[in-house]
Amino acid sequence: MRFTSLLRVEGRNKMQRLLLTEIEEEVTSILSDLIKIDTSNPPGNETVAAEYVAKSLSRDGFECTIRESAPGRGNVSTRLRGTSEKPSLLLLSHLDVVAAKACEWSVDPFGGVVKDGFVWGRGALDMKGMTVVELMTLKMLKRNNVKVKGDVILAATADEEQGGLAGAGWLLDNYPEEVYAEYVLNEGGGLAIPAGSKNVYTINTAEKGLLWLRVKARGLPGHGATPNVAENAILHMNKIIDQLNSYCAPVVMVPTVQRFLTDMSKQDASLREPFLRLLAEPEKADEVLNELSKTERLLAEEIRPRIRMTIAPTMICGGVKENIIPSECETVFDCRILPGQTVSEALTLTQRLLEPLGLEKSSFEVIHANNPSESPVQTALFETITTVLRDFEPDCGVTPVLMTGGTDSRFFRAKGSICYGFHPMRPETARTEKVVKREHGIDERISIDNLVFGTSILYETVKRFMR
Ligand SMILES: [Zn+2]
Repeated sequence: MRFTSLLRVEGRNKMQRLLLTEIEEEVTSILSDLIKIDTSNPPGNETVAAEYVAKSLSRDGFECTIRESAPGRGNVSTRLRGTSEKPSLLLLSHLDVVAAKACEWSVDPFGGVVKDGFVWGRGALDMKGMTVVELMTLKMLKRNNVKVKGDVILAATADEEQGGLAGAGWLLDNYPEEVYAEYVLNEGGGLAIPAGSKNVYTINTAEKGLLWLRVKARGLPGHGATPNVAENAILHMNKIIDQLNSYCAPVVMVPTVQRFLTDMSKQDASLREPFLRLLAEPEKADEVLNELSKTERLLAEEIRPRIRMTIAPTMICGGVKENIIPSECETVFDCRILPGQTVSEALTLTQRLLEPLGLEKSSFEVIHANNPSESPVQTALFETITTVLRDFEPDCGVTPVLMTGGTDSRFFRAKGSICYGFHPMRPETARTEKVVKREHGIDERISIDNLVFGTSILYETVKRFMR
């Protein structure tokens, strides 16, 4: 069902006025075209998509720059110049996507299929859909001759799905004058959570950091038939995994999560009691979440990793032959840390936890690490987004959220930008429904209504923020 038909009568006129219905065909065909350009990463091959974006923008008079971090790894950027009376704003997206197995899908994941009111394909949500929303916003600002007081920059980059070091991170290090902005809008939020009869729109203001750690256990080799003569590294690794897995990190409520729990407790009566209790008695968080899990399992399990550091074993390797007691066994741990915590603290903690097992029998190697990041909630941009959303949907809520995964926002936050993940979308599934048809999933798709809605919200936000 098209959401315009669901609108409450009193909000209808204002929203109809703000909704950019005239762009429906254009956003649909641009997204369909972009999906047809296979940018599965690895290897990426984003330059073809970057050229497509540049060509599309050139039709509205934008001059784009394409920078390749390596052959084929293109990043495209352009800007709408302002009068420098206001800070600049970057509309950021990534052009690469994760792989898709065509045999699992009901349509060709790279076919750019348009049917049933949706654009289907890998990247529809993560995140070529937002590339189109941002590109269309820029075009509309120009077409409507909107005078902006700060520069509005657009960058569509490579390599986010593999860490962004050949994309946004590289671009910011090598061409900061082309992409740096005081404010950044990127992926990671924007989708509304249904709360009773209302929608609560999310703005991603923070994300966890990560530490991928390889721990190696050492023993003494021997014959499998006389195991007691040797020292079995697998058995030692067993203890290491047990020790790290049973560690329960202290609950920490970062500002974003405090505000999320407060906002949601006001918006949804069923969440009021558990969320207020979480805030008042964080030491009883597990008790509260176990109870909540009986009725709202997905929500409870979404909150759990947002209030503490987590460590999970994700890969294991040990032994070389059936009859040899192994002298080495290694396990990779995926450790996720909250804003305010650092990678080196997490490493020290891990080593301290393993001390009782004898550190001389193990070694540690950091495979990859990213620090967490958080932007303030009280900013003019957050306020503008809230005002715009309420003009479209008077009774909606707006709340900041913490992401457990990472996005390219971290590169910009590290340089001092205020970054929000905000791809405005109305919910297309219920809160309790298991989400499989979304980012990185099978049959990924975005409704045409949401493409129009997202562009309308973003256009109005940028226009008012830059006025
Ligand atoms: Zn993404």
